Amino acid sequence: MPLGEFDLIARYFTRPARRAALGVGDDCALLELLPGMQLATSCDMLVEGRHFLPTVSPQRLGHKALAVNLSDLAACGAEPLAFTLALALPRADETWLDGFSQGLLALADAHACELVGGDTTQGPLNICISVFGQVPRGRALLRSGARAGDDLYVSGALGDARLALEAFRGSLTLAGDDFAAARHALELPQARVALGIALRGVATSAIDVSDGLLGDLAHVLQRSGVGAQVDVDAVPRSGRLRAQPLAWQRQCTLAGGDDYELVFTAPTERADAVQDAARSAGVPVTRIGCIESAPGTRLVDSSGRAVVHGYSAFDHFRS
Ligand code: ADP
Ligand code: MG
Repeated sequence: MPLGEFDLIARYFTRPARRAALGVGDDCALLELLPGMQLATSCDMLVEGRHFLPTVSPQRLGHKALAVNLSDLAACGAEPLAFTLALALPRADETWLDGFSQGLLALADAHACELVGGDTTQGPLNICISVFGQVPRGRALLRSGARAGDDLYVSGALGDARLALEAFRGSLTLAGDDFAAARHALELPQARVALGIALRGVATSAIDVSDGLLGDLAHVLQRSGVGAQVDVDAVPRSGRLRAQPLAWQRQCTLAGGDDYELVFTAPTERADAVQDAARSAGVPVTRIGCIESAPGTRLVDSSGRAVVHGYSAFDHFRS
């Protein structure tokens, strides 16, 4: 007998509620917000072939499905509380469900973010998570707050996820260790939740890099009504990416995708506060440019020469 819908939910996705007033099992879950807090919510869908390769392990897929959602909370400076999981599965494969739920719930535990409900149906593999977090009223980091004169920063390093994808595609080859490390970046992204929270009241704007640095930065610039200068050589990248030809380095760091690092702006006089936030969150942050009043993004290299580019962000209906 294959596992039925309700046995499946009970076995893999039901645990006693700890933070939520009511978790899985009723028509709705109930969440309590502390006084003075706003609810931050976001939703991200993962479709096989579109967002992940069939080669990814179910455990890593469970991790990534939640990580990309936590990354949106991080970009707002919100603290994770809970999430729901809408899951379409071709079949109730217990080995797959074991791995997937383990990866998912391990990350959920690491962020004290509870699974409080969802929907389960048969169909082509599709994973849709809605995440809920809280942020003190008026303190959320928005895309709209960048001001001319602000410094522009990015957390961690960019480009390894794209490097792994290109290795999978056969466009380049990586040595065994390098491939494993790049693949780790692609399949096990770390949402910068602690950094987002530490940047409340310091950063003037933030976004997480999911579609490529230049594309995501453009959203901030547009919403803020400003432009930016970016030093393309200052964009942090791993040693394994540095070993690649410069054209690949730039493609992967500027228009890579799946990085889940934070790009944010802060006034120059808050540079020390930015580094304090980075230290407290245990994530390096690097200044990669500045905000200017003229719209658009101007790229320069480390010697200040203009870099011509035709990089475009990932767009589901244009690629
Ligand atoms: P409804 O009929 O109200 O849509 P369902 O029968 O679909 O409820 O689900 C029963 C309970 O199980 C609900 O509390 C729902 O939130 C929860 N649930 C369903 N699928 C999942 C899942 N994949 N993960 C967690 N909870 C789930
Ligand atoms: Mg339902």
